Amino acid sequence: MITAGNISFSGVRALVRVDFNVPMDKSFHITDDSRIRAALPTIRKILADGGSVVLMSHLGRPQKKLKEDGSLDREKFTLQHTVKRASELLGRPVLFSDDCIGEEAFQLSSSLKPGEVLLLENLRFYKEEEKGSRDFAGKLARHGTYYVNDAFGTAHRAHASTAIIAEFFPGRKCFGFLMAAELENAEKVMNNSGHPFTAILGGAKVSDKIRIIENLIGKADNILIGGGMAYTFFRAMGGHIGNSLTEDDKLDMALRLMEKARTAGCNLLLPEDSVIGDKFDHDASTRIASNREIPDGWMGLDIGPESIRAFEKVVHSSRTILWNGPMGVFEMKKFEEGTRKIAEAVVQATGNGAWSLIGGGDSAAAISKFGFEKQVSYVSTGGGALLEYFEGKTLPGVKALID
Ligand code: AMP
Repeated sequence: MITAGNISFSGVRALVRVDFNVPMDKSFHITDDSRIRAALPTIRKILADGGSVVLMSHLGRPQKKLKEDGSLDREKFTLQHTVKRASELLGRPVLFSDDCIGEEAFQLSSSLKPGEVLLLENLRFYKEEEKGSRDFAGKLARHGTYYVNDAFGTAHRAHASTAIIAEFFPGRKCFGFLMAAELENAEKVMNNSGHPFTAILGGAKVSDKIRIIENLIGKADNILIGGGMAYTFFRAMGGHIGNSLTEDDKLDMALRLMEKARTAGCNLLLPEDSVIGDKFDHDASTRIASNREIPDGWMGLDIGPESIRAFEKVVHSSRTILWNGPMGVFEMKKFEEGTRKIAEAVVQATGNGAWSLIGGGDSAAAISKFGFEKQVSYVSTGGGALLEYFEGKTLPGVKALID
């Protein structure tokens, strides 16, 4: 894998695909700048070598959120909102081009001097980006003499700027530091992990996680299932789950996964009890119940104390831990305990020498809510991309850099 660390960018104009898709409030103030921060090491390396940088990114889904008259909501989705923060963090001005292609944009990029940084307008203002248009990718390619991809969050998409563009830079393309770190850490979990290897999977829907469970069954020693998706398994076994989340078209699949795990000698562990609530709300009444006997009108919203104890025991004895998806509705105080306790167990296991990777937006959010980011081995920035990696798929953004 060739990374930005292997290249001297002296005199090079590097076209860098970053992920500046940051969350913002209604006044367009950035509420979490970690994606911009994550791109800094690559940008700084290129500048320190004596190169210049053209940054390109998407922001939100402007093609899906058109204005009432059918036009693009440029005010909402402009990357101009990120310029000030990026300049502050880099400690130098970031120039901005209000179009990502076109003569003016090419003029700006071609006149960059070493040490200068230009950010192009939202790539998704053009439909061609998500369609993976070769023609559009070719235009974007004019902005740089070298291509660097540091946008792990979109590496699972074969978009113009994340994959197709790479063919315009034969022998002149590499991984940014963030992308390289993400892949190395994911690879470490999947192929070079110490055993026992435990995957903790949670979140709302089992349908999102079927492929990852299937792929992990041959690799992990333990798979702990928490969150809303656990109830589909209990319902499939004939349990009474009240009003808990369920995907009734996935009952057979749930049974098949359990059987597959049994055959493979993989310990697929389900939570036996839950904290149940009488409504999906902060001020719900709560009780503890067996997941086989949840009363009608009640729903399982967090794993219960017995499940926490059983999961903790497995986590404490693990050498490698992958965690994706919260154990319950951790956004609500009454239902955060399961996620917090499992996070604490992961932290403790890490302190005792285990290697832990936390991945997916919600698990990363939970870890940061509890203030444990520095006490686990690695927190991934990639949601969908990381999931697809663990499903065993080849990521187009990665393949394009290697081909
Ligand atoms: P996902 O995006 O599939 O990882 O799901 C994350 C979301 O699942 C979080 O917002 C949680 O609040 C939610 N969640 C976790 N457990 C439950 C549950 N038992 N019932 C409903 N939602 C849940």
